[in-house]
Amino acid sequence: MCRKIWKDSDDRGTVYGVFTTSMLTRFAPSPTGDLHLGHAYSAALAHAAARAAGGQYLIRIDDIDGSRSREAYVGASLADLAWLGLNWDGEPLHQSARIGDYAAALDTLRDRDLVYPCFCTRADIAASLSAPHGPSGAVYPGICRNLPEAERERRMATEPHCWRLDTAAAVVNVGALTWEEQRQGPRIADPLAHGDIVLARKDAPASYHLASTLDDADMGVTQVIRGADLIAATDVHRLLQALLDLPTPLYRHHPLVCGPDGRRLAKRDAAASLAAMRAAGVDGRALAADLVAGRLPTGYSLQMP
Ligand code: GLU
Repeated sequence: MCRKIWKDSDDRGTVYGVFTTSMLTRFAPSPTGDLHLGHAYSAALAHAAARAAGGQYLIRIDDIDGSRSREAYVGASLADLAWLGLNWDGEPLHQSARIGDYAAALDTLRDRDLVYPCFCTRADIAASLSAPHGPSGAVYPGICRNLPEAERERRMATEPHCWRLDTAAAVVNVGALTWEEQRQGPRIADPLAHGDIVLARKDAPASYHLASTLDDADMGVTQVIRGADLIAATDVHRLLQALLDLPTPLYRHHPLVCGPDGRRLAKRDAAASLAAMRAAGVDGRALAADLVAGRLPTGYSLQMP
């Protein structure tokens, strides 16, 4: 396969990477609100990396959460990306079209006894004195992990439940795992720190972890470029890749865009929304080029969480 060296200059100065010409990356917005400057930064970095490598840049709409996703935000997000000049390859992919794939992966793990139904409410978990804090929130204290089979069957018939990974059993299954962070080098995955993560939610057929890991593999993503708030989540994704026999892409976790108050942007920060900037006459293409070069509008900054 033809390989080429490419040069990439962004938030952390200049780095060199080696990619095959089949480099493929993606930007994956959740259509639950207006995109802001932080999304533009992430989308522009991924786009620049793909184009510099002669690779592909795909858009995935993470609309698995039916209660929060809105069609209007899908159209608005694509309009924002077009305004930024971030042309993508092919048609945008939608997670809502992949429910059968998520269910099949869950079945595989169920057949291997690596997942269990959990009937706990948030209040049950909060009330448990043994719920320590992990990298992605409270670590599930294992209340439903070893319920007798008969009780599981009975409760599944009537009670809402999610499906959790038995993370300790899964780790025993696959052994020690590493993954590659483009800036930080090899990392040892620590999925146990997350406890028994949810793979299928009570109200959605898959969790972010399961859907994103499967989609990245099925889309042929060779490099994931996303915010540094997801570094710890990658340990979980690495475990799922090992369990489901999926390839592991290269990862790059970039700093987060913070507002004038020093806090990372959220979808409620209307002033930083791309729609507001577009309406104010900002040149989207120039903005994207500035972001890739690490130049942010006055008052905004890049910070590692
Ligand atoms: N839809 C996810 C988000 O907006 C994507 C995260 C990722 O890039 O893996 O946070």
